This record gives sequence, C-alpha cells and structure tokens, in this order.
Amino acid sequence: MIEIKELTKEFIEKRAENNLVALDHVSFTIEKGDIYGIIGMSGAGKSTMLKMIGLLEKPTSGTITVNGRDINKLEGIEKINYYRSIGTVFQGYNLLMQRTVFENVAFPMKLTKYDKKAVEKRVFELLEIVGLKEKAYQYPSKLSGGQRQRVAIARALANNPEMILCDEPTSALDSLTTNSILKLLKRINRELGVTIIIITHEIEVVRKICNKVAVLDHGKVVDNGLVSEILKYKRHEITKSLLGDEDEEEEGEEEL
Ligand code: ADP
Repeated sequence: MIEIKELTKEFIEKRAENNLVALDHVSFTIEKGDIYGIIGMSGAGKSTMLKMIGLLEKPTSGTITVNGRDINKLEGIEKINYYRSIGTVFQGYNLLMQRTVFENVAFPMKLTKYDKKAVEKRVFELLEIVGLKEKAYQYPSKLSGGQRQRVAIARALANNPEMILCDEPTSALDSLTTNSILKLLKRINRELGVTIIIITHEIEVVRKICNKVAVLDHGKVVDNGLVSEILKYKRHEITKSLLGDEDEEEEGEEEL
C-alpha cells in the first residue's frame, strides 16, 4: 500500500558546510492493515518521515508510492483526496479548546460537503467508537488527557481515512491511559481496517500494538520487519538500547 523508496530529506544549513541529512535513502513497505511503528531516538528523523507521508514536506529525492501513485506527483482533486484519506493524531491532541467535543469531531466534516443531519449522525457514531458519547457537549478543558486523545482519534476517523498517522500518541499519558488508547487504536485497526502508522520513542508502544517496525537511527533504517523478529533478534545496537531494561519485564507484559 505504501512503498517508501530511497527516501532522502536534506535541510539546508546556511552556516554549516554540509546540509543536514534528516533521512538518508530510507526504504521500507507498509501493507494495508498494518500497525507500523517507526521508532528511534530524538532526532532520528521520525517526524520528518511522518510529515513526508502526510505530504507536509517534500523529499529531496526518492519516492513515496501509495496505492501505486507517487504522492508527490498528485495534483488538484487527487491531492485533496489523498489528504482526506489520512487522519492524524498528535501527542498534544491539537483540539480546538473553544469548541465542544461534538464540534471538534465535526470539524473535518464541515470542510467537506456533509449535510447537518449526516454530520450529527456520524459524530455520535464516532463518539460511540471511542466511548465518549456522554461527553459530546463538554469542552476539552473538562476532559482528562486520555479522553482528549479519544476525541482526537474520533476526529481523525471523521472522513473515513484509509490510514491514521500517529505522532507519539501516548507520550503525554500515564501507563494505564496509554494502554487504553493503544487498545482503542488496535480495535480501530481491526474493526475498521484502517492502516496505522505510529512514530514513537517508546518500545512498549511497538511491542503492544505494532505488527511491523522500522528502527531509525540518524536518518537511516537500521532494522525493519516483523516486531516479533526485530525484538527477538535485536540485530542492531539501537534496537538493544531502545529495549533498555524492558527485556527483564518481557515475561509479565500485558497482551492488549
Ligand atoms: P525525530 O522526530 O526523530 O526527533 P526529526 O525528524 O524531528 O527527528 O528531525 C531529524 C533531524 O532533522 C534533526 O536533526 C532535526 O534537527 C532536523 N530537522 C527537522 N526539521 C527540520 C527543519 N524544518 N529544518 C531544519 N532541520 C530540521
């Protein structure tokens, strides 16, 4: 579904001799229905990767092909449709604080041509999925972090996206809330068939819900494939250091 080939992103550094290479000939493939983790330390290039999949940054070279089309060659309505096929969930929720939960979830639908009744029906369907129907007319300031992230997930689903891009979705949450949000994402993936791409620095996120992972280090993919194999064989130093002390905890790991 998403084929990333020799993707390179350089940022021009005016005062330095060389440009900053945020991504360096990165290649990997994400299949429809995957929950694909992109993990790495801070500065590894994760956000740049996600922005390029979301068509918010252009590559210096290389391609991202989605459903057989180079996304950087899309124009007009095809480009708009591509943007609509993506929902995004951020670490900081990015909700409109002056709007109710209902209005936040309805917001992306208002940008398209839904009639009022259809919007209302869909918002309640989405709030049902994330378990927040009774909070429809609350303001985000009255909600916990986990509830805010549920609103953000409902909003991300508003236009029936093919994929959801998650930018450190649980980094601001405690471990219990993290589990419930990861469970929700897993259920959405399974029941709605939405492909999920998650960037994270937390190995537990990868371990708990991803089926595949790419390990990024200094802009290069140093390891990628099935989570079960990557975590078992620990072929790369970075994978080992991301695992840290978690190895000892593995036995008691809760299955979501
Ligand atoms: P991560 O998300 O893994 O922390 P980023 O993708 O944010 O990493 O950054 C990768 C590298 O690219 C870093 O060295 C960062 O400073 C640099 N970088 C990211 N965005 C920009 C930008 N807009 N201009 C210049 N350098 C950038």
